[in-house]
Amino acid sequence: MKRSTSLKLTAALLAVFVLLTALAACNRTAKAEYFDIFGTSAYIEVYDADDAKSVEAEMRRIETLCSVNAEGSDIYRINAAHAGESVKVDTVTMYLLQKAMTVFELTEGCYDPSVYPLVELWGFAAGEFLPGTPPEGGIPSQDEIDAALALVGFDRAFSLDPNALTVTKLIEGAKLDLGGIAKGYAAQLALRVRFDICNVGGNISVGKEKAVIGVPAPRETETGSASWLFSFSADYGACISTSGDYERYYIVDGVRYHHIIDPHTGYPASSGTASVTVVSKDGAFADAFATAAIVGGADKADDWRWLANNRYEGIEDFALMSVSDENEVSAHGTITITYSV
Ligand code: ADP
Ligand code: MG
Repeated sequence: MKRSTSLKLTAALLAVFVLLTALAACNRTAKAEYFDIFGTSAYIEVYDADDAKSVEAEMRRIETLCSVNAEGSDIYRINAAHAGESVKVDTVTMYLLQKAMTVFELTEGCYDPSVYPLVELWGFAAGEFLPGTPPEGGIPSQDEIDAALALVGFDRAFSLDPNALTVTKLIEGAKLDLGGIAKGYAAQLALRVRFDICNVGGNISVGKEKAVIGVPAPRETETGSASWLFSFSADYGACISTSGDYERYYIVDGVRYHHIIDPHTGYPASSGTASVTVVSKDGAFADAFATAAIVGGADKADDWRWLANNRYEGIEDFALMSVSDENEVSAHGTITITYSV
């Protein structure tokens, strides 16, 4: 399948859908402006096209700083650096790296932006993956997985100096990837203008008083017959991220290999949790935590939610909804879900 087609397909199957009924109920008319960014599709419903332009420009700046492929980006330079080298980064990159470190610690390393060597090995690197297609050489060998695992571990492979705005690599060959956090942060940027909904590859922010968000049944999205499994209502300022094992994957010998990697085993996550939706005022947090919850599974994720509320300073209260690979739904936090959408 051509990549442009797959982009459109991704757009059609965005992990979380804003229900059309919610839009119809709104009598002012905002217009959706579409663009491709972070290797996926985005839209923002605005009242003034210039607002969409300015939000898009801000998102492009994040993309330019954090892309793994764009030569000269902060992340590109970090990845190209040798062990012992310090790389100067932008304040936004440092903000995301620090947020990433918080989620890394909270989730016992289940969210780990240093997982990139494994992401590459499994064929899910940005610009590499073609839907449904395993890497050319097939599934990686255990030796290859072990070699990549030796490079993974955010706190031992990298040291951050927020004051000097530098990142120092500690393990030769280690690499970073902010693909599991940047889109959630980007969606939140829309809150600087007047808008209704912004959606960056399944990471949503809400700019109107209330929006009804539908979550699809994970396995049905694959057959193109996505129906809403449940819905919930989100208020102005909410950032909503969904991660799932059903959008970027391939199947070999009946086994599903997907793009969220367990940094402890080196294999695609196999927690039995197929999709996780997080609602928070913090877009970057929602995105990264949703990724971690796929790795750790729904029960662990709820333990981390308790820890975040009781043992950590500065993490906004958040809600968590998960769907198992058997379609069982669980919801935690201040959220009410409805099944008849
Ligand atoms: P998507 O990018 O499809 O919205 P996520 O937000 O869950 O999905 O992020 C997944 C991306 O993050 C992967 O494509 C990969 O680049 C990276 N990644 C994979 N596994 C992990 C992990 N355990 N921790 C952090 N990032 C990860
Ligand atoms: Mg994520």
